[in-house]
Amino acid sequence: MNAENINILAVSDIESPTLQNILQKPSELRGKIDLLISCGDLRHDYLNFLADALNIELLYVLGNHDLYQKRSASQQHKTASYGITPFYPKKGFPGNNINGKIIQCDKCAITGFEGSRWYNGQGIQYYEKEMLSAVRKTVKKIHLRKIIGKISRRKRMPLFVASHAPVQGIHDLDDQCHRGFSCFKKFIDKTQPVLWMHGHIHQPSLIKNQISAYKNTVIVNVCEYRFISVSMAGKIKVSHQFQKI
Ligand SMILES: [Zn+2]
Repeated sequence: MNAENINILAVSDIESPTLQNILQKPSELRGKIDLLISCGDLRHDYLNFLADALNIELLYVLGNHDLYQKRSASQQHKTASYGITPFYPKKGFPGNNINGKIIQCDKCAITGFEGSRWYNGQGIQYYEKEMLSAVRKTVKKIHLRKIIGKISRRKRMPLFVASHAPVQGIHDLDDQCHRGFSCFKKFIDKTQPVLWMHGHIHQPSLIKNQISAYKNTVIVNVCEYRFISVSMAGKIKVSHQFQKI
């Protein structure tokens, strides 16, 4: 860890008592985390707690379950342990929804893609061709802003991506709901992000060590939480402990 790194706390799908304990002493992390990112399917009061503890703005994409209607308290309790979002707040989430937007920070740019692959039409779900359209629009925005730096003389700015669904063939599963989008690979081919964070794959036996690479992009399943540091040279460290990044 050094001052030149970009330090990220990324969360998705499952609320973590361990992370909540860490943030009970917010002074230990305050000022040290540059980006708080949610990859979806988390309750808004949990996300509020994280943003308040770190005193930074939340950047997020919604998960496929984020449009569920409010459920009874007993149902909320029942579903919370499976990481299913109990309800979608009428006023929306706190923070900045980065779906399809390009957010430029001091040291990086970040964009996002919400939802999952279509499987039953409930919640935020997309057909491959719909996601491909979102991917093409976002690639165009990135090229227009010269973030990739081929035209701009400015130093190239690292690009990060946060999606709910995975990239097809990387950490995804065979069923329709949990299969990743193949167009995400097209996005990587055209924009070469340094880091891709996703959620949605949250079987406990599968979430260990889900850190992979596609071309020069490091892909991390952040499900329930991960601390990630990115050095200016593009070196990436991922851990459940901030001290180890
Ligand atoms: Zn999901």
